Amino acid sequence: MARHRNVRGYNYNEDFEEDDLYGQSVEDDYCISPSTAAQFIYSRRDNPSGFAETLDEEYGHEDTQQSNYNISSHQLTGSEKAKFDSCLERVREVLGESVPEKVMIETVLDTKFDVQQALDSLLLRNNKQNMKTKNEETVIGGKSMKGKEKDFQTTRIESDVPKVTKMTVSGKKQSTGFEVPCVNTEENGLNTSTLQKGHSAGDAIVNLGVAEILAKPILPPQTVQASEEQTMAPTPVKKAGKTKQQIDVKAELEKRQGGKHLLNLVVIGHVDAGKSTLMGHLLYLLGNVNKRTMHKYEQESKKAGKASFAYAWVLDETGEERERGVTMDVGMTKFETKTKVITLMDAPGHKDFIPNMITGAAQADVAILVVDASRGEFEAGFETGGQTREHGLLVRSLGVTQLAVAVNKMDQVNWQQERFLEIIGKLGQFLRQAGFKESDVAFIPTSGLGGENLVTRSQSSELTKWYEGKCLLEQIDSFKPPQRSVDKPFRLCVSDVFKDQGSGFCVTGKIEAGYVQVGERLLTMPPNETCSVKGIALHDEPVDWAAAGDHVSLTLTGMDIIKINVGCIFCCLKEPIKVCTRFRARILIFNIEIPITKGFPVLLHYQTVSQPATIRRLLSVLHKSTGEVTKKKPKYLSKGQNALIELQTQRPIALELYKDFKELGRFMLRYSGSTIAAGVVTEIKE
Ligand code: GDP
Repeated sequence: MARHRNVRGYNYNEDFEEDDLYGQSVEDDYCISPSTAAQFIYSRRDNPSGFAETLDEEYGHEDTQQSNYNISSHQLTGSEKAKFDSCLERVREVLGESVPEKVMIETVLDTKFDVQQALDSLLLRNNKQNMKTKNEETVIGGKSMKGKEKDFQTTRIESDVPKVTKMTVSGKKQSTGFEVPCVNTEENGLNTSTLQKGHSAGDAIVNLGVAEILAKPILPPQTVQASEEQTMAPTPVKKAGKTKQQIDVKAELEKRQGGKHLLNLVVIGHVDAGKSTLMGHLLYLLGNVNKRTMHKYEQESKKAGKASFAYAWVLDETGEERERGVTMDVGMTKFETKTKVITLMDAPGHKDFIPNMITGAAQADVAILVVDASRGEFEAGFETGGQTREHGLLVRSLGVTQLAVAVNKMDQVNWQQERFLEIIGKLGQFLRQAGFKESDVAFIPTSGLGGENLVTRSQSSELTKWYEGKCLLEQIDSFKPPQRSVDKPFRLCVSDVFKDQGSGFCVTGKIEAGYVQVGERLLTMPPNETCSVKGIALHDEPVDWAAAGDHVSLTLTGMDIIKINVGCIFCCLKEPIKVCTRFRARILIFNIEIPITKGFPVLLHYQTVSQPATIRRLLSVLHKSTGEVTKKKPKYLSKGQNALIELQTQRPIALELYKDFKELGRFMLRYSGSTIAAGVVTEIKE
């Protein structure tokens, strides 16, 4: 989290808008000493059309020939020569030695000394060359280097993992972020040795259709006991006195963002499937990452010996992520399609970071599942231990119903239709069984690295000869906007808490229900404290109100920051959320080797919270389709069963019944690094 807090308020643009365009990377790479640089500039100035001597010194014989390029044949006038010089100098400042001088000169002449055009064309040329080099590398290696570079021998347990999520700096904008709660298996006192390997959710759940089962009618709830409320004298706030004005949120929502719907999209899939590259390239092609930044990433990744990761670096921001070549946090950024404003969450694929992935998925409306089409790689992700199945199941269990499957790295299989169909066959069947409707799942062939079929339909004949469907962006645009619970009482689950400049502090999170206005008083559960909303920011823009579905940052006053934790829920004063340490739930058990008995310790993953809990009672085994009790007070529960249980949490937790608030009534249970069950809250005890 420190990363995020430290960078808040830091203007990244400054990094790129100084004289040394594109940062220091070019100079660093080539170590041009000040004296050489001075000489270089001098000779150009004094001898604008005769670069030969200077270039001789700089680039050797081959380039001497290049530099003998006869610009006099272009018959430049005095002012044209001056323009030519100035343009060439700018281009050279930006690109350093990454482009041969001859090509630079030609391009400057071709573009009639237009710096922007010349840079565009040269960068494009460089990209193409890089792609070519990458493809050669990949072909030689048989598969991408990343897998080799990574060494997961030092597998971490969840407790070591920096559980940080972030909003990513994409191009111009610095956004806000949030923290994922820490999961410490040791601290939780879990005995990890009792479960066997291979508890991948995917295996047991095939044929079960988790979401459908859990969505079946739930047993009638019994008495609901709300926790006792404490009292607190709030401190005055700047905008106190402002009362909540009635606004027609639905009408306002229609008008907002130029009539575009907000959609929260999570990108999931097995590690190395190409998630970050795909989305990084998509953002770049959409113009969300400026050329200078992209060039900087290219240079830096090249320098680090990971040239193929340049696009992934758009979303993988920390040194450790880049070092390991693996996404750990949920990177967040925003982009727009024709009809939607998308909040993009790039979830980590590695199994060590599933808790982070759950947090991202819990806040998503729709998902892109990225699979690697390469031979053997798709299979590795899909089989036991791979994350393709587990992620698919998790997002469905967490309420995501629409899915785009990016069948990625199609360049690795020469865009073969047979391979695409083979993957659709295997994955499609699994996704149906996991509870996705066939009509809500779309398969799109892509190449994240090559940028094929991302924002525009591919023109490549290898693909067009058998594929006429949508490109990825069109698919994202055609997702149905989800129903927002704006009519329900206000609920926001805190995903980050931080101190901002000025009075008060900030929390970020997704509004799950209702709406909030500046000046409003809110209650936080736990700890049952009130505060006032001093400001609201949506995608970093200050707004007067925000509603269900929005990822916002609230500036709050009248409460001590110490009392707020990730996982607290902000709600309206009139209809507060319930807090408890004991609740009943209907669960669907995934693939577990050892049966669940009374007293079984688990980690409860609920929204942004993850905390230790115990299965206190096994109440009944239920019929998967009818929900009828088939066995009362079972001694144990085994894989694939549907059951009613009572859970005891270590600390108070704010929850809702699934029947009242779907979003706040779902949870996952994990044990020893594996997801063992998905559940919905049926009764809140105390
Ligand atoms: P993530 O772990 O799923 O985020 O995967 P990354 O985006 O970090 O990519 C993993 C590796 O696959 C990197 O070396 C990428 O350059 C490579 N890669 C990603 N997409 C493609 C693609 O479409 N084609 C090829 N050939 N390689 C790709």
